[in-house]
Amino acid sequence: PEIALQDLFYQSVKTYPDHVAVTFYDKTMTYQGLHQLIQNAAAALHHLGVGKGDRVGLMLPNSPQYPISYYATLVCGAIVVQINPMYKAEELLHVLNDSEAETLIVLEPLLPLVTAIKDKTSLTNIIPVSFEKETKFNEMLKSRGYPVPKVEIDAKNDVAVLQYTGGTTGRSKGAMLTHYNLVANTLQSYSTSEASTELGKERFLTISPLFHVYGMTSCMNLTFYIGGNMILLPKFDVEETVSIIEKTKPTVFPAVPTMYIALLNYYQVKKFDLSFLKTCTSGSAPLPVKVIETFNELSGTSVAEGYGLSEASPVTHRNPVSGLQKHGSIGIPIPNTDSKIVDIATGKEELPIGEVGELIVKGPQVMKGYWKMPMETDETIRDGWLYTGDLAKMDEDGFFYIVGRKKELIIASGYNVYPIEIEDVLYKHPKVMEAAVVGIPDEYRGETIKAFIVLKEGEQATEEEIIAYCREKLAAYKCPRFVEFMAEFPKTAVGKILKRTLKEQLKA
Ligand code: ATP
Repeated sequence: PEIALQDLFYQSVKTYPDHVAVTFYDKTMTYQGLHQLIQNAAAALHHLGVGKGDRVGLMLPNSPQYPISYYATLVCGAIVVQINPMYKAEELLHVLNDSEAETLIVLEPLLPLVTAIKDKTSLTNIIPVSFEKETKFNEMLKSRGYPVPKVEIDAKNDVAVLQYTGGTTGRSKGAMLTHYNLVANTLQSYSTSEASTELGKERFLTISPLFHVYGMTSCMNLTFYIGGNMILLPKFDVEETVSIIEKTKPTVFPAVPTMYIALLNYYQVKKFDLSFLKTCTSGSAPLPVKVIETFNELSGTSVAEGYGLSEASPVTHRNPVSGLQKHGSIGIPIPNTDSKIVDIATGKEELPIGEVGELIVKGPQVMKGYWKMPMETDETIRDGWLYTGDLAKMDEDGFFYIVGRKKELIIASGYNVYPIEIEDVLYKHPKVMEAAVVGIPDEYRGETIKAFIVLKEGEQATEEEIIAYCREKLAAYKCPRFVEFMAEFPKTAVGKILKRTLKEQLKA
C-alpha cells in the first residue's frame, strides 16, 4: 500500500461521488461535496504557508470539520497532530511544544485556553471552528482560486499523523504514523470484516473520538476507504445514541467498552431496535465477557473484540466479525501481522501456549518511532518487533488474551495477579456496573489488592459482601482485601479507567 492516505479517499470520491460520506445531525455531505471542501481547505492552508512536514494541530470534537481539516493537512504534505479537545493547559502545552506545531485548528470555545498559552508555543496560525457562527475556518472552505498544493508523498517515510498516546500510564508520547502505516491498517481492518461488508453501503456510527487512534482508523479512514457513511456524534450520551441509532440505522458500530456498558445499563434500552447493527466492534480497553453476552442477548449481534495501540495505527488483533469468536479474547493477529508472547524479563524467549508474557507484534502498521524520542523508540521497537507493554497469553487455537499492562501487574505475596481476571469476576456481580482493581503497597505481602467499584443505579453493597463474593470465585491470594465504592471513575477520552489516578488518590 505505498500510496498516500488521501488516495484511499480519492478512490471513493471517484467510485461513489454522490453517496453520503458524512452525516452530522440533519446535515449530510456527499463524497464529491466533501472532496471539494477538502481541496479548498488545502489550498487555503497552503496559502497560509503550511507545507510538507509542517505540523498542524487538530483540536476538535467529531464533526464534519474533522475530516476536512485532517485530509486538507495531508494534501499539503503536512502532519496532523491529534489533540484531545478536553486537554487542560498543561497537557495542551506539552503536545504543542513537543510537536512544534505552527498551525492549530481548534473549536472556538477553546480559544481562551489556547490564547493563554500561545506565547509559550510555536503557534503562528490559529484557526477557530464554530458550529454556530462564521469563522476563519468557513472562509477557508470557500474557493478563492488559490492553487491546491501538489506534493509528492513518500508513503513509507513521510509521517501523516503524530498520534499522541492515551496517557493512561504516563505522559503521552507522539507516535509517528506514516502514510504507509495508516493505509496498511485501513486495508487490514477491512479484510477482517470483508465478509460482512457491502462496499458503498455501510453506515458507521462514529462516536469514538476521531482524535484518538481507534476512531481515526476504525471509523474515519475505514469508512472512507469502503465508500461508507460516517454518522458523527461529538460526544457520547446514551439517550442521544439510542435515538440516533433508531433514526439513522447504522450498520457498523466501532465502540469502546464504556459505551456498551452504558447502553446496557440504560433503563429504556429494551424499547429500541438494535438489530440492524450487524458489525459491532470493541477496542481500546478490556471488554468484560458479561457485557458481550448481555449485548448479544439484547441486539442479536455479537461484539467482536479487538486490540491495538497508538504505536500500531492501531489494530493488531481482532476476533473475526463472522467466524469463530472467543469471548474474553482479543482474537487473532490481523492479516500481515505477526505476534508472539515473550519472556517478560528478557523480552527474547518465546513462551509456550498458555503462559503469560509480554505481547509483541510486527507488521506494516507498526509506527516509524516516537517523535523526537530515539531512546524510547529503540526500547519499544527491537528488530522490527513492537513491544506493547501488555501482558498476554495465547491459546492452542492462536487466540490471544490480554491479562493486563506490564505496569499494572500486581505482585501479591510473590504471586502474579492480573487485575483483569478479578475485574471480570466483579463485573458478573449483579449490583456492579464498573470495576477496577489495583495493587497497593503492603508491608507483609509486597502488594495487596484493592477493588474500586461503581454500583448500578439504586444498588447498595458492603465491602464484606464484595469480598465474600470474590472468595467464592477466586483463589484467596487474588481476592481484594479492600473495596471502595465510587460514584464514578476518572477516565480517559475513550473511557479507559485511569487506574494511575485511583492509585494517586490513595497516596494523597
Ligand atoms: P499511554 O501509552 O500513554 O499510557 P494508552 O496505553 O492508553 O496510553 P493507547 O495507544 O490509546 O494509549 O492505548 C493502547 C493500550 O490500550 C494497549 O497497550 C492496551 O493496554 C489497551 N487496550 C487496547 N485494546 C484493548 C483490549 N481489547 N483489551 C485490553 N486492553 C486493551
